[in-house]
Order: sequence, then C-alpha cells, then structure tokens
Amino acid sequence: MSSLAIEQSESMPSAPLAEKRDLVGLSREELAAALGETGVPEKALNMRVRQIWHWVYYRGVTSFDLMTTISKDMRDDLSERFRISRPEIVTAQVSSDGTRKWLLRLADGQEVETVFIPEEDRGTLCVSSQVGCTLNCRFCHTGTQRLVRNLTPAEIVGQVMMARDELGEWPSPPDGRQITNIVMMGMGEPLYNFDNVKQALHIVMDGDGIALSKRRITLSTAGVVPMMARCGEEIDVNLAVSLHAVRNDIRDEIVPLNRKYKIEELLEACRAYPGAKNARRITFEYVMLKDRNDSLDDAKELVRLLRAYDIPAKVNLIPFNPWPGAPYECSDPATVKAFSDYVFERGISAPVRTPRGQDIMAACGQLKSASVKLRRSETAA
Ligand code: SAH
Repeated sequence: MSSLAIEQSESMPSAPLAEKRDLVGLSREELAAALGETGVPEKALNMRVRQIWHWVYYRGVTSFDLMTTISKDMRDDLSERFRISRPEIVTAQVSSDGTRKWLLRLADGQEVETVFIPEEDRGTLCVSSQVGCTLNCRFCHTGTQRLVRNLTPAEIVGQVMMARDELGEWPSPPDGRQITNIVMMGMGEPLYNFDNVKQALHIVMDGDGIALSKRRITLSTAGVVPMMARCGEEIDVNLAVSLHAVRNDIRDEIVPLNRKYKIEELLEACRAYPGAKNARRITFEYVMLKDRNDSLDDAKELVRLLRAYDIPAKVNLIPFNPWPGAPYECSDPATVKAFSDYVFERGISAPVRTPRGQDIMAACGQLKSASVKLRRSETAA
C-alpha cells in the first residue's frame, strides 16, 4: 500500500487509493468498458486495452508512469482513476528445500497463502481460491478453518503476479521461467468459486500477457460433481481430483463432500471430463492414512474402479502431512511403497509425492494454519 502511494504521489492530486479501481483481474471486456467510461473513444478501445494489457501482464508494471507507449496526459488520467494492485506480503518464508511460502493480506485484512515449489524440471505455483474452506476434510488442517469468503479474480491473479515480482520474472520470458506450472491446490475449493477462478485463469492463460499454457495449469477439486463438466468446457485446464478413498463409507468420513456426491458419480464425471484422453490424464490425489485407506485391498479397488470407468488416470500418493491434533497418522513407508508398486504394476502411474516445504508448514493441507495459530498466541501473550 505504501509503495503504491509513493509511486503515485505525482504532482496531480490523486483520489484515495481505495476509490481507485483495480485494473488487475478485469477481463479484456471489463477493461474496455472501464476505459470507455473514462472517455476513451470507442474506436481506440481495442488498442488501449492491448497496450495496457501488455504493460500490466507482460511487463508486470504497477505504475502508469512506466507505460511509455501511452501519452503522459493519458497516463496521468489513468493513474488518477485506476491502480494496478498486488496483495500485500505479510511474511515470505523459504524452506530448506527451496520451497517458498507467502502469507498475503488482502484489502479487507483477510489472509491467504501461496506456495512456490521449485523442482529440477519445473516450478509450480500453488494458488489459493478461497479464504478458508467449507469442505472440512478431516485430514486437512486448512479444513479446520471456516470459510471466510471467495477470492476475487484480482486476488487470484494477484497471487501469480506477486510471485513473479518476488522471483524477478518480468517481463514474461518465454524461456527459462521459474514458474512453469500453476496448481489450484492452495486454500479453498476452486469449483465453489467457479466464476472468479475461471476469469483469473483466463487472464493467466492470455497469450499477450503471462501466457501460461492450459496444459501447465491444474485445477484440483474434492469432487464438486455438478461443476466438473463446466470446468473442462469453460476453463479447459487439467483436472486433479482429491479421491483419497475407494469406498463410500471411508470417503464419507474423510471427505464429507462425498455424502453429497458419491464415488460412482464422481468417477462418472471424471470419465466424461471434456478432453480427458491419454494426452490429458486426470490426476487422482490419494492421501495415505494409516489403517484407513492404505491396504492392498484399497489399491486393488482403486485399479478396478479406474479401469471400470475407463479413466485415463495417474495417481499421486501423498504421505499424510501431520498437524497438531490430527485424527490420523501417516501410513508406514513400506505400506506406501507396496500400494504404489501394486498400482504401477497394473499400468497406472502412482508415484509417491515427497512432501515439500514441511519445515515452513507449506505442505499439502498445512496452509495458513501456522499463521493463524501464531496470531492467536500473539494475542494471548
Ligand atoms: N479443495 C481442493 C483444492 C485443495 S488441494 C481439493 O480438495 O482438491 C489440496 C490437496 O492437499 C488436496 O488433495 C488435499 O486432499 C490434500 N491434503 C489436505 N490435507 C493434507 C494432509 N494433511 N496431508 C496430505 N495431503 C493433504
């Protein structure tokens, strides 16, 4: 906030920041409409949108002064009415394994986390879609927080832009990028915030800006069946499904959403997922919980189901990341290995995921919990 204020403290009197409209997160159509309202002539709108889009999403500027293809008068006018925002970084942590986690504060004081996971051949940004979550999955620490609200398109795109600021990734390099992939696997259920997630991902995929390919974006759902077809048709990114169990009684317990949409319905929606073919397999996430879902019978049933529904699939086995008071333990390494081998031997890829960023509570299911706890103990102190 303060840095924005400094950048914009030109000679022109400025409207208070809160009254300025954020250009980040607007679709091209909304941007054109916003510019039209300021008096930009109709026939110039397309060109102006193209120019501003390039500065905002390709160059990553946050100040209108830097938009040198636009006249000084118009830049001054734009900076009086609009802003180009970023979420405020509260803390930035780096794990011993190179994973980074940012705690971000939004305009209304709510907080979310974003995680960057560097690997040898790629770098994955894990983006949040909601503040908190409604799903209450029993093994997920994020799920012990209540849902506060959906994130706006600006707040979702803003996580990507903030991470690119931090990693020094402007202007958008076609090669040698650090953020090569995005997963909607942070806090929240993205299919419960469909419209905003859709708008944000379309901005991220737009070829004149950040230009991340849809093949490098994965949306993860706990199984919001009625939204899955639209996800494929309207967003058209890779799908991951948090399956975690192959029997309805167990899944009812660990993913309560299963009480609404049973495994059979979920797998039918996966089978029908637009574009689900071998080139675009569906990822099934499977958290390994000791004595709950980790037997060879479970592995066997998993293979049977994926075959019966004829789903081009890969399975990600996630060793359970513990948290204080969690009602589960992680499966033994030998059990995880046996499960993985069984599935692999039947022709379905089932790697065991190495937990990343555990020392900074950045691993799956651990998001925000630490910061919330810290805040509580700070206020208690
Ligand atoms: N709501 C969406 C997006 C969240 S993705 C979904 O459920 O898919 C977060 C992933 O981490 C999910 O697969 C979730 O099941 C998994 N996860 C949550 N808590 C975990 C834990 N303690 N250990 C390992 N994985 C966990």
